Amino acid sequence: MPLSIRQPAAPRYRGRQDVAKSPQSQSQASWRVALTFDVEHHDRPAHPDGTRLVLRTLAERDVVATHFIQGRWAQAYPDLARDLARQGHLIGNHSHHHTPMTWLSPKGLAKDVRQAEQAVRRATGHDPRPWFRCPYGDGADDPEVLAALDRLGYRDVGWQVDTFDWRAKATGPQVVRTVIEQATAHGDGAVVLFHPWTPATGRAMPQIIDGLRAAGARFVRLDELR
Ligand SMILES: [Zn+2]
Repeated sequence: MPLSIRQPAAPRYRGRQDVAKSPQSQSQASWRVALTFDVEHHDRPAHPDGTRLVLRTLAERDVVATHFIQGRWAQAYPDLARDLARQGHLIGNHSHHHTPMTWLSPKGLAKDVRQAEQAVRRATGHDPRPWFRCPYGDGADDPEVLAALDRLGYRDVGWQVDTFDWRAKATGPQVVRTVIEQATAHGDGAVVLFHPWTPATGRAMPQIIDGLRAAGARFVRLDELR
């Protein structure tokens, strides 16, 4: 199929519940939240420096997170990818072409994932294995896709809180409310999905961090979660 940097319109992102809820409750002094970002080419006009803005907010507030980087994005923005890695965030792989994984043959999938891995390593100096996030969440419940990822040294990571920040109508206050309500309801171990290029996320991030901290949350990378 033709491969381009544009994201196909479908399938849509799907919420997932693949990480067991911890029995610990948020009433404890400190509970863990993993902010995760799919760092990718966007498919509509976006904040020109959205990803840079998010990184600055994370640094100012001393927050570490996890970034799943699209290979082609790393090739296009190597300086930004390098800066991101230097902030101490965990680096994952978000495919090379952002094609739904179920659309690819086993050979095509392996090629795409490896291409992304090389691009991300070149830009950040970090091996993204074993962290992988399927574009659109597509393939995350497909045994063949998961087995193919496993052979390549990866495991797919889903989320419990979907900000839906990629929607054109998403607003900063809406994203703030969604994250604080849902992450607090989930409690310890909540994984939150963001897209840093969206205008809503850049605007929402300071309030999300401050609000969750006020509720007792501690921000961790995915490798600190399990
Ligand atoms: Zn994506």
